Amino acid sequence: MTATIIDGKAVAKVLRKKYAQEVAELSAAGVAPGLAVILVGDNPASRLYVGNKTRACQECGVRSHLQVFPADVPEFDVLQAIGKLNQHPEIDGILVQLPLPAHIDLRKVLAAIDVDKDVDGFHLYNVGALVVGNTIFPPCTPFGVQLLLDSAGIEVEGKNAVIVGASNIVGKPMALMLLQREATVTVCHAKTRDLAQHTILADILIVAAGRPGLITAPMVRQGACVIDVGINKLPDGTTVGDVDFDSVKERAGWITPVPGGVGPMTVTMLIANTIRSARRRAAQKTYLADDSFWQA
Ligand code: NAD
Repeated sequence: MTATIIDGKAVAKVLRKKYAQEVAELSAAGVAPGLAVILVGDNPASRLYVGNKTRACQECGVRSHLQVFPADVPEFDVLQAIGKLNQHPEIDGILVQLPLPAHIDLRKVLAAIDVDKDVDGFHLYNVGALVVGNTIFPPCTPFGVQLLLDSAGIEVEGKNAVIVGASNIVGKPMALMLLQREATVTVCHAKTRDLAQHTILADILIVAAGRPGLITAPMVRQGACVIDVGINKLPDGTTVGDVDFDSVKERAGWITPVPGGVGPMTVTMLIANTIRSARRRAAQKTYLADDSFWQA
């Protein structure tokens, strides 16, 4: 059996078209969605990701504002820039591209972002909302995975979902989202003993470890849905995921390719969250403009 390929690029394209329409409607109503991106330093991968994000904004009609700082910028300057963006009435989302240089305290930076503009969903408030199932801005990568599962018609409820990787930006929020949808969730990480013993039980296997070739065919249950979040650059310049695609696709029921799987969805979900934030701004505007309370 050869797995059905879940084409993230195609799913993202359909979603972006829909989002462009929503952005046009919001803009016509005077609430044009706006996203601010802060980039510190000149890490080539970060530049590439920021480029993808601003291009996605252009494609969907979201106004984007890029603020670039040198790698040795004082932490205070970054916090001050965030403070200004928090106050800006036409900025709905603020994103700080990670990783940050070591002298900048990531926790301070994430805490400085207004929770109502935290479109990456990394502020403690939004993490807490995710824990209690009251998500406001779902973190973009797991959000994208969730929509990919939906697009392929994969039922989550009651399934064994195994996640390989337990980072704050992918593995942990992914686990919470699947738990919210009533999957039985296992989270594996670098200290997990006998990884295959866990992965073989997965109906849905989500891999985000950053280790090329980590998941091979014998570790995968026949007919499972395999989502490869990993992005690894090999010495020959090719980009691969964490799953040995060629062998696993002969065993899985569904599989995402790298590139062209989760990556395009992550960027697209940033647009989704920015639109969500603009809608909240629009609702607040209506609420504030409604003075019937005072007239009553
Ligand atoms: P991270 O380094 O923060 O976390 C990696 C996790 O994998 C850790 O929990 C670690 O314990 C676990 N791990 C490492 N080696 C392992 C092993 N041998 N067995 C089991 N678990 C192991 O990484 P991250 O930021 O979560 O990213 C993970 C991968 O996903 C990277 O390749 C990254 O480039 C990619 N990524 C892709 C997207 C996307 O949009 N497609 C978004 C974010 C991250």
